[in-house]
Amino acid sequence: MNYQNTLAFAQEQDQQDPLKHFKDRFYAPQINRQDAIYFCGNSLGLQPKSAQMYIDNEMYKWANLAVEGHFKGEEPWFNYHELLKAGTARVVGAKESEVVVMNQLTVNLHLMLVSFYRPQGKRYKIIVEGGAFPSDQYALETQTRFHGYDPDEAVVEIFPREGEHTLRTEDIIQTIKDNAEELALVMMGGINYYTGQVFDMEAITKAGHEVGAIVGFDLAHAAGNIQMDLHNWDVDFAVWCTYKYLNSGPGGTSGVFVHERHGNSADLHRFAGWWGHNAEERFQMKKGFMPMAGAEGWQVSNGQILPLAVHRASLEIFDEAGMDNLRAKSEKLTSYLEYLIDDLKADKSVLEVITPRDPKARGCQISLLVKQNARQLFDTLMAAGIIVDYREPNVIRVAPTPLYNSFEEVYQFSDILRECLRKC
Ligand SMILES: *Cc1c(COP(=O)(O)O)cnc(C)c1O
Repeated sequence: MNYQNTLAFAQEQDQQDPLKHFKDRFYAPQINRQDAIYFCGNSLGLQPKSAQMYIDNEMYKWANLAVEGHFKGEEPWFNYHELLKAGTARVVGAKESEVVVMNQLTVNLHLMLVSFYRPQGKRYKIIVEGGAFPSDQYALETQTRFHGYDPDEAVVEIFPREGEHTLRTEDIIQTIKDNAEELALVMMGGINYYTGQVFDMEAITKAGHEVGAIVGFDLAHAAGNIQMDLHNWDVDFAVWCTYKYLNSGPGGTSGVFVHERHGNSADLHRFAGWWGHNAEERFQMKKGFMPMAGAEGWQVSNGQILPLAVHRASLEIFDEAGMDNLRAKSEKLTSYLEYLIDDLKADKSVLEVITPRDPKARGCQISLLVKQNARQLFDTLMAAGIIVDYREPNVIRVAPTPLYNSFEEVYQFSDILRECLRKC
């Protein structure tokens, strides 16, 4: 595509954008009493205007039906989570029976590790990308320790080569092969939160399986951002949060994928609770855990209806827009951002893009390594009405999302960035 560094070009792209009306479906945060340019959907997605109604419905049921709301009315709470299955399956490329929405991300990661990190004899190692999100690091550290291993030895981190910022798939696969006999699990981000790099989940899964390891992904930055095909890629398990690209509210609920070949495995260890128990017998309060089939069998507590209701509002928007359409726009929008940043011709000693240049190897986030006055640059952008985010030690992440961001906003961002670079 031939991009141009002009406002007119950006506005023309917006005119032609079939998804442009989705912007009106979200509230825009305000800075200086104006709509801010919000490029932080990778951290907390904006509020869908419809979310309030979905919450109100449940509050109304609670007020009027109280405990009867579990079984009465059109959408009883007892199986409310089922309303989210189809939309969730479409977002991550799974069968409905392979997904469930519950709890929060790190909690679900622990629950998955209980089932899928089963070190035995020589096999006890976990491969993860170096610099993974801290919560994932802590989960792996404490899980390996829980099984009696030294995390420094059991957790194998892969780092980029000297002078590079992202991982090469060949290096990931080589590390899997190098640890073949000792590898229990590969557990990586689907997209790294810091660099925005998309990992080749299909190739990694295949390589992991070839050496007899289990392969799982944390899709916090991938869900609602890129297209996935978890079932066909043969991924063993995955977890993700819903408050980033999936716009389902601060601390919102989380999604879980368990491949169907594991869904009925009675021999997998689980930390169980009543909501994973065979639904027909759940209220008979009997001894002896009998899991539901599929991912639902990993549920522990009864559904958190309010976060689930918000997530439902959001998933309906994703269904309307369609992941394919969103991704098509996203690639254009992010490539336009990249083009405009390159056109600033900033010196590499000042500003460097550390996100992969190949659109297929990134989602909608561009991470800027800022080598001079990074914090000042960030503060200046924020004061100018642009909400981006800052990650220590010196990275500014900019994420134009296809649902509610426009080409014009990307253009304005680069214009202000140019000004800021001059000042900082
Ligand atoms: C955002 C994020 C988390 C956050 O975990 P919560 O349990 O939702 O607080 C964890 N891991 C990754 C990779 C993330 O990007």
